Amino acid sequence: MKIEYIQTEVKNIPLKTPFVTALRRVESVEFMRVKVVCQNASFAYGEAPATKAITNEGIEDILASIAILKEMLIGKHPEDALKILHKANIGSSAKAALDMALVSLLAQEFGEPLYKFFGGEAPVELQTDITISLNDLDTMLSDAKEAYESGMTLLKVKVGSDLKHAVRVIEELAFELPKVKILVDANQAWNLEESLSFLNAVQKVKIELIEQPVIATDLESLKKITDASFVPILADEAVFTLEDVIKVREGRYADMINIKLMKCGGLSKAVEILEYARAHDIRCMFGSMLEGPISINAALHLAMAFHDVIAYIDLDSPLLYKESSDELEFLYAGSKIIFI
Ligand SMILES: [Mg+2]
Repeated sequence: MKIEYIQTEVKNIPLKTPFVTALRRVESVEFMRVKVVCQNASFAYGEAPATKAITNEGIEDILASIAILKEMLIGKHPEDALKILHKANIGSSAKAALDMALVSLLAQEFGEPLYKFFGGEAPVELQTDITISLNDLDTMLSDAKEAYESGMTLLKVKVGSDLKHAVRVIEELAFELPKVKILVDANQAWNLEESLSFLNAVQKVKIELIEQPVIATDLESLKKITDASFVPILADEAVFTLEDVIKVREGRYADMINIKLMKCGGLSKAVEILEYARAHDIRCMFGSMLEGPISINAALHLAMAFHDVIAYIDLDSPLLYKESSDELEFLYAGSKIIFI
């Protein structure tokens, strides 16, 4: 099984409502889809969304990376292609897209669905959170109520630099929807003092965790917040690769980590992180950017195989699409995700 050719196309999926965080606002998921075709006619897809605010790659950057690497991978077996890919100096999203296609080809050769290829025994029912975008208080409350009424019990609430607003949103949400679990995601919006004052202000509110309160590079502040916090602190933008995860664990900079294919460079790299997390008892969130259906499928297969180490699943992109996708291998029913 040798690679014969590699094709790319740019795709766009409109969202029901704009997705807003402290870092960005988008109205559709724009992503690149790569198709890797082998000489024996087997083929597989990979995808990477443009998430410049996080991985520093726009669609043009991702396409340019694939164009650079393409010629080096043609004629190679997917396993050898993976080695070349992970030595290349290209962005993590472009890597993730190619890695996804190559690993899928290996699973096809192995004759098993992806989750089995990753060591999973049987399909597992998963549960995702849903994102409540950063907005004015009333909009966030009504979005949260609508989500709860549609069966979502785990809300990832995006907050921003306006601390008063953040506290108010979390207090009101907890009061109005006592049965939901709240994950707070600040997307690096605060400094140390603001983070501590947020913690102080929400002491009496039941929240599950606080995600990336401070800028990714400020690990010392993250550690101080983690030490002072009564809820787990989760590192997201601060953790891209396995090396980052090891650093965070050894330095006790955060309690938990958020793994995303687009940050770590794809399925094979995520497996290394998940195995490390399994061996060292690190609680993980398995998340994604706003992504297309093929990369969400891949992430969900991996999440099924490593469900024992994944405390929270944040793979809600398909719930945010304006129209449901027929390319998903999973059914989203409220917060439940079922392999079909
Ligand atoms: Mg996050």
